[in-house]
Amino acid sequence: MIQIIDGNEVAGRIRSELETCLDTLERNGVVPGLATVLMSDDGASETYVSMKRRACDELGIESFHYDVDPGAPADVLLERLDELNSDSAINGVLVQLPLPDHVEEQRVLERLDPLKDVDGFHPENVGRLVTGTPRFKPCTPHGVQRLLAAADVDTEGKDVVVVGRSNIVGKPMANLLLQRSKLGNATVTVCHSRTNDLAEKTRGADVVVAAAGVPELIDGSMLTDGTTVIDVGVNRVEADTEKGYELVGDVEFESAKSRADAITPVPGGVGPLTITMLLYNTVKAASLQENVPVSLPE
Ligand code: NDP
Repeated sequence: MIQIIDGNEVAGRIRSELETCLDTLERNGVVPGLATVLMSDDGASETYVSMKRRACDELGIESFHYDVDPGAPADVLLERLDELNSDSAINGVLVQLPLPDHVEEQRVLERLDPLKDVDGFHPENVGRLVTGTPRFKPCTPHGVQRLLAAADVDTEGKDVVVVGRSNIVGKPMANLLLQRSKLGNATVTVCHSRTNDLAEKTRGADVVVAAAGVPELIDGSMLTDGTTVIDVGVNRVEADTEKGYELVGDVEFESAKSRADAITPVPGGVGPLTITMLLYNTVKAASLQENVPVSLPE
């Protein structure tokens, strides 16, 4: 029988384990603080930031928010980051991406204190991940690993196809799956827009992680029976709804469902885990900075 992997349920379990970590921190006089920085007028980015802040409030992480005028020079954002880097009430800093075109993303990510880089995008944290000593695992791929574990999918020795090679999803996903560790040890193929015959690759996979940002790119005809399908994609497509759009993944859910043995829905699959692993990284950042050991959810 097909298993629909419920992201909200998995996220809820991890969040309740994080509460125990927060109790430990609190007994030692530490309340973790997360700063969110938004340099955009984009409605979706605003929504993502407010969801992250709400999740902090619900768990007992203090959240601080900073808007930077999207028309301002890059230096205004960089100076804000310098302030946050030296503010001891703030353990984690999240700069909501994408940034305006005139702001060089890499310069911004490099300006963050790597110990506060709860997205895990600073080159030092990327390097640690690639060399097998991760500090902050990027939230979305880390969440995907947790979903696979929750669905009892052991990735060891499995053929996993990751569709997408971005720095925030595809590449760190491939690196995590390659680690010599639990939730890793997979044989990983990374596909992208120049891949020849994507369907041939996905048909050969035990697990497909779709992160291309192309609505319903992968359908049932591109899968073999028994594949596990994790759909990271969140795409707005026009629809006859109140908002004028609906959210669809990178996987055509109905046809894929007829082939898969387990699959994540959109919404309600990967999304709740992305936010939860941000909370996880913020708790970890506070624990590292304040020297208070906590038992993070395994
Ligand atoms: P990017 O646009 O940065 O990267 C997309 C990747 O997919 C690129 O590597 C691109 O290849 C590849 N790609 C594009 N078209 C195809 C195709 N036809 N066949 C194969 N590969 C293709 O996106 P992100 O990685 O940031 O995000 C991917 C998706 O995940 C988006 O829908 C995004 O909204 C969603 N997302 C969801 C999150 C969640 O919490 N659920 C969190 C983060 C992202 P190339 O490199 O050649 O251009």
